Amino acid sequence: MSQISEQKSTIHVALFPTSGMGHLTPFLRLATSLVASDVRVTFIAAHPTVSLAESRALSSFFASFPQVSPKQLCLLPIDESSSSTDDPFYRHYEVICRSCRLLPPLLSSISPPLSALITDMSLISAVLPVSRAVGLPNYVFFTSSAKMLTLFMSFHKISVRKAMPGSGDNEDVIKIPNLEPIPVSWFPPPLLEEEDNFLKSSLIQNGKSMSDADGILINTFHGFEQDTLRALNDVNITSGLPPAIAIGPLPPANFEEPHSHPLAWLGDQPIGSVVYVSFGSRTAMSRDQIRELGDGLVRSGVRFVWIVKSKKVDEEDTEGLEDVIGQNLMMATSGAVNGLVVKCWLNQSEVLGHPAIGGFLSHCGWNSVMEAVWHGVPMLAWPQHGDQMINASLVKRAGIGIWEESWGRGEKDVVKGEEIADRVEEMTRDESLKARAVRMKEAARTALGADGDSGRGLKALLAKLSQNGARFD
Ligand code: UDP
Ligand code: UDP
Repeated sequence: MSQISEQKSTIHVALFPTSGMGHLTPFLRLATSLVASDVRVTFIAAHPTVSLAESRALSSFFASFPQVSPKQLCLLPIDESSSSTDDPFYRHYEVICRSCRLLPPLLSSISPPLSALITDMSLISAVLPVSRAVGLPNYVFFTSSAKMLTLFMSFHKISVRKAMPGSGDNEDVIKIPNLEPIPVSWFPPPLLEEEDNFLKSSLIQNGKSMSDADGILINTFHGFEQDTLRALNDVNITSGLPPAIAIGPLPPANFEEPHSHPLAWLGDQPIGSVVYVSFGSRTAMSRDQIRELGDGLVRSGVRFVWIVKSKKVDEEDTEGLEDVIGQNLMMATSGAVNGLVVKCWLNQSEVLGHPAIGGFLSHCGWNSVMEAVWHGVPMLAWPQHGDQMINASLVKRAGIGIWEESWGRGEKDVVKGEEIADRVEEMTRDESLKARAVRMKEAARTALGADGDSGRGLKALLAKLSQNGARFD
């Protein structure tokens, strides 16, 4: 008897993420949690991927979970000349949206029939017409914060015109009806451009489509975003929106391959003494900023592990480390003065979970925030793009990190090494940050227990899926 036919549950869900490790990783973790609950899972992955990191993660996931059925959505050709963006991840996302028209034969080839489809929030407007046509329940998986969800679902209803430079009104916060206002400066910048752009129009479309989805799953937990989750589930506030079910923080899974090199170095460092520095999977810093950051880390005198990235897409990031960080910094760090600089993919969650790690200088991609929380590591937030300022505000509000707002998004002005050194030192000295990060870690783990909010959220989802028992054959 195959592993699949031995499964007790009759629930069968298909998961469909969009491009980038920031989306793929939580989807793979969700798949792992569903498999652990005896759910049959089909995983739809767009092919090809943008980055090597994604294709490697998919291969190692499918090798570790043979009971999960892989399905490839082979993408239509990328037409760079008609693309509205030069960001490779957004360009890929644009093509995934266009390629959703290829979903009907793919969905009908899935056997046994699906109970539901779980779609990335940024694909819902492209996928919903397909799932509705075949009578398939469609859930959204929102891979960012609940706070970002409030902006996502209301952006199409609010006027940002007033906040635009030169409007005369100069409002600096956007009032979201019945929800906490969000400062305009925290918005993902493409949303504030007057002219149309792909990100803005797709967020508007997806925000509108959210109300037609059967439920919204979020990788967060009540202990971290209590008020926002309550408001999102208050029918008087978000009338028409399906329930927002917190199921996070989704824990790292064992298919995420270990990398031994920095761990060997970390093993020689005192407990809680090392700051981990990383800006995620798709943020390339300017050369000038990289040099200042290196200078700041060395000046701080604090031990560090720093992942340097000079190109957005990993396969293009081929320059040698010394060419990127410069000879002086190479010399300063090569003698193992106080740090380890690498230019490769590390298993971040494994690094964050190492006892030597005592702080995280992060861009605040939502997965990075949830991983820091999971491991109880205090943060120095330095948001760079997209939703990251909104996420940084949550880190600050929870008291588990510092956010120096004057640094901006790290794109316009170069932040000087002296300032970086000061903030890094401040984070490592602050015992109250550490204590709160440890308490938040405990809250995260409690949330995922059978009686915790997120554990109950997952159980409620499974109950709903098995009641629906939807079949589209
Ligand atoms: N990540 C990793 N190693 C790296 C860079 C990133 O394991 O060298 C993982 C990280 O742990 C997280 C994901 O890639 O799970 C990045 O997602 P996040 O939301 O933090 O940021 P993004 O990369 O989307 O900006
Ligand atoms: N890699 C990645 N994302 C990155 C950097 C690297 O996926 O941000 C790839 C890298 O190209 C390499 C693979 O991950 O092929 C394994 O990296 P490893 O840690 O073994 O180091 P490397 O081979 O790059 O020295």
